[in-house]
Amino acid sequence: MEKVKRYNVGDMVPFTGAYLCIPCGYVQVFEQGEAFVPCDACQAGTSLGPEGFQDHEEDFWERMQ
Ligand SMILES: [Zn+2]
Repeated sequence: MEKVKRYNVGDMVPFTGAYLCIPCGYVQVFEQGEAFVPCDACQAGTSLGPEGFQDHEEDFWERMQ
């Protein structure tokens, strides 16, 4: 099975649509060409985020099908 790609803060959004925050389940819509931002709900991608997701290089946004 193909691994689902995840994105980190600062990555370019490849397709407009809804993306799921892996650690907390929050869903946010991003537009193609924007950059991903930290999660509003759990602060993933910042030092205040959940354990294991406190670095902006952690991949945690996943595109919803
Ligand atoms: Zn989150």
